[in-house]
Amino acid sequence: MIMTGKLQSVLLVEDHPLNRKLLKRVVTRAGFSIRCAHDALMALQMLEESPADIILMDIQLPGLSGLELTEMLRADLRFADTPIIAVSAYAGDVDRQRALEAGCSGFIGKPINTRTFIEEVLALADRAVM
Ligand code: MN
Repeated sequence: MIMTGKLQSVLLVEDHPLNRKLLKRVVTRAGFSIRCAHDALMALQMLEESPADIILMDIQLPGLSGLELTEMLRADLRFADTPIIAVSAYAGDVDRQRALEAGCSGFIGKPINTRTFIEEVLALADRAVM
């Protein structure tokens, strides 16, 4: 288990129920609190209620895409520095590049490796904060 001082809060934006279930389990097991948004609007509502320390962002969502949502968040000073990690089916470097250009701090391809996922997230998040 990895602990990084205080309990960190994660916002997961993911439209697929099975992916939500899997990621929720992995993140919870590592000692983080997690809220799950099914789409971009739900994510925005949740962030209005309270901010997140890390955002895990699916790219393909119904309505606004994860890339569009990331661009919106980056334009908002409250979320400009929040680590946003894209978690998406990997179809080549173009996808990774698009995610970074939209403002994501890093990219993790699906299917995720449940054993290393949290370490990957924290490494990318740390890099974003530095
Ligand atoms: Mn999706």
